[in-house]
Amino acid sequence: MAVSKRSAAESKRPATSLDQRLALRRKKREERAARRTTGSEPERRRAAQPGRSRRFFVEDEERGPRRERTVGPEPQRFATSFAPGALDPDAEKVVRRLTSSGHEAYLVGGCVRDLLVGHRPKDFDVATSARPEEVRALFRNSRIIGRRFRLVHVLFPHGHVVETATFRRNPPVEAQGADDSLLIVSDNYFGDAHEDALRRDFTINGLFYDVEDKTVLDWVGGMEHIQSRTLQTIGDPVVRFQEDPVRMLRAVKFAARIDFGIAPEVYDAAVQCRGALAMAARPRLSEEVLRLMRGGACQRSIWLLWEMGLLDVLLPELSVYLADVPDDSLVWSLLVQVDERTKQDSTPPDDVVLWAALLLEPLLEAVEAEKDRTRAAHDFLEPIVERLNLPRKMSDALVRIVTMLPRIEQGKGSRLRKSALLPFAQQIAHMRRDAQASIKS
Ligand code: ATP
Ligand code: MG
Repeated sequence: MAVSKRSAAESKRPATSLDQRLALRRKKREERAARRTTGSEPERRRAAQPGRSRRFFVEDEERGPRRERTVGPEPQRFATSFAPGALDPDAEKVVRRLTSSGHEAYLVGGCVRDLLVGHRPKDFDVATSARPEEVRALFRNSRIIGRRFRLVHVLFPHGHVVETATFRRNPPVEAQGADDSLLIVSDNYFGDAHEDALRRDFTINGLFYDVEDKTVLDWVGGMEHIQSRTLQTIGDPVVRFQEDPVRMLRAVKFAARIDFGIAPEVYDAAVQCRGALAMAARPRLSEEVLRLMRGGACQRSIWLLWEMGLLDVLLPELSVYLADVPDDSLVWSLLVQVDERTKQDSTPPDDVVLWAALLLEPLLEAVEAEKDRTRAAHDFLEPIVERLNLPRKMSDALVRIVTMLPRIEQGKGSRLRKSALLPFAQQIAHMRRDAQASIKS
C-alpha cells in the first residue's frame, strides 16, 4: 500500500503530552470525518435486524422463554463450483452426514469468503440446524465445547477439527447491555439459517455454501460485495460496531488481508465508534491485534488502524510515535518484514516477535536517554498491559529483548547465549537490519 507523505510541520515532534497529542489528532480526524449516519438508537436497532415475513412460536431454545421467531426470505442462489480439492474433505463429510440425517448444513463464513476470492481458507466451519447434542450423536469422535455458546468439534485424524455450530440469531434487544448501550452481552440464541446469516458481521462473511447443490446461498448481498471487492457490514455499521467493537478491528483485518475497500459509511462509522473499543473485552483486543499481525498484511492493517484513529484508542503510544516520525519510519518497514517472513515461511513469526515488531521503535525511543533502561521499558509497557491485557510474560519478554538488542546489534550476542529469548531477539535484530536497508535503498 502506498504510504503518503506527511508535511514537514506534521512530522516535527511537538513538545506536548501524550494526551494533548492524541487530542490534536482526534480533533483533526473529527473535522475530516463527516457524520454520515443518522437516526435514533431504536431506529438503528430495527434497521440492523431486518425484515420479517412469517411468524410462529418456538419452544426449543437454548436460552430464554418462548419467542416469536421469523422465517426469513429465500436467499439468492449462485451456482458455484470450486476447483477439485479446494474444499476440505472432512468438512464435506460433516455436512453430508448432517444433511443425509435430515438436517440443514452448510459451509459458512471465512472459508466461503476465501474460496470466492481465491484464497486458501485457514479452516472450514460448518453451520447446521442440528442442535449440539444431535451433532454429537452423529459423530462418535466429537465433543461439545464452550459454555457461553456450545458448539461441536468433530475430530479427524492428525488433530484436524471441523467446528460445527448450530444456527444462531441476533440476540433480542433485552439481551444487550444496560441503559442505551447496544453492546451484546449474550449471543447464545439458536435460530435458522437466514437468521444465522444476518447475525454475522460483514456481508462477505455471511455467505453459506451448499456442497450438494454446489450453490452459494446469499441472504445478505455478500456476492455483490465479493464482486465489487467491498467490505460492508450486515445492517447499520454504527449499530454493528457498538454491539461489538471488535468488529472494527475485524473490518481492518479483512480489508487488509484480502485487499478489499471498506465502504465509506463503514469507514466513517468505525471512525465515529472508535472510542467504543475501550469497552470491548481486553483479551479479545490483544488477540485481535495478533490476528491482524499474523495475516500476512500487518503493514496494511496497522496503517489502516492508524488512519482511522483506531490505533489512538488501542495503542496511543504507537499512534503518536508514528505521527511524529517521518513516513519512512522504521515501524512500517519492520511490519513489511513481518509480512514477508509470514509469506516466506507460510506461518507468522512467534507472538513475541510480532509484538516486538509493533512496539520496538517507540519502546526504544522511550528508553533511549534513560539510565535504567529496564525500568523505563516497564514503565512504557505498563499502560499497554492494562489496556490490552498484554500478558505480563509477554511484556517481560519485550523488556528483555530491548535490553539485549544493543549488544546483538554490536555483534556481542554470544554472551547472551543462555536466554531462551535470544533467538527471538536475533530475529528482530535481523528484521531491523533488513528494514533499515530497505529504507536506504
Ligand atoms: P479467519 O480466516 O480469520 O478465521 P473468519 O471469517 O473465519 O476469518 P472467524 O473469527 O473464524 O473469522 O469467524 C467465523 C465467522 O463467524 C465469520 O466469518 C463471521 O461470519 C462470524 N463472526 C466472527 N466474529 C464475529 C463477530 N464479532 N460478529 C459477528 N459475526 C462474527
Ligand atoms: Mg475462521
